[in-house]
Amino acid sequence: MQCDSCQAALEARLDGELSMDEAREIDRHLAICPACARQFATLDETRRLVSENAMRYNAPDVLKARIRGAVARAASPTVTASTRKTLRWWREIAAGVAIAIVSSGITLVTANRSAVRYSAEDELLASHVRSLMPGHLTDVLSTEQHTVKPWFNGRVDVSPAVPNLDTAGFPLIGGRADYVRGRVVPVVVYGRRQHMINVYAWPSSSPGGSPPNDLSRNGYHFVTWRSGGIEYWAVSDLNVAELHTFVAMFTAAH
Ligand SMILES: [Zn+2]
Repeated sequence: MQCDSCQAALEARLDGELSMDEAREIDRHLAICPACARQFATLDETRRLVSENAMRYNAPDVLKARIRGAVARAASPTVTASTRKTLRWWREIAAGVAIAIVSSGITLVTANRSAVRYSAEDELLASHVRSLMPGHLTDVLSTEQHTVKPWFNGRVDVSPAVPNLDTAGFPLIGGRADYVRGRVVPVVVYGRRQHMINVYAWPSSSPGGSPPNDLSRNGYHFVTWRSGGIEYWAVSDLNVAELHTFVAMFTAAH
């Protein structure tokens, strides 16, 4: 089986829409292909997140419209293969949740600058969840630090550390530029089994370093530290102990 056809069927696999033969074929490919397996894990994670968190937020109008549209299409008698896509409720909601978090933050900040700003954790959590949606994790997909680090040149105003942590069990997946806390920042992405770790960096307000500090929100963990005039934030649903191990390896390697 080719990766293309495997990846096209991953969502249907996740939603239990394949025949047993089709499902077996997909599973056989997932067992031998790390790229497709990672994609599957990301989709699975997105789906889980949505079921756990979607109800915490009010649905924005755009989401309501999408759901009404999806329901109307599903109810029409000419439903064919496209039904699969329109009934992918969890992806619709995942997109809506990210829009809701981000747009409510922007509205608050622009409508009234003295209003309570969303905290760094709120913005990082929204960015992290958004990154788990298909196609959002990386702009540059590479396990090579010498490919990822130069990619940031000219795109962001801080050059983050991109250590190679393969031997420690934290493979580099790639990098992207993201918009967080009012600026475009570099994000370096690492993996740990089926978990993703997003490492955000921006210029620190104070020079020098500080030891790692952790906090948690909605089942996600954050570890933040300062090094070389840069403030780093690692965000993941990985357990706190392993996230601290990751940060220790990361800081020791650069
Ligand atoms: Zn594959």
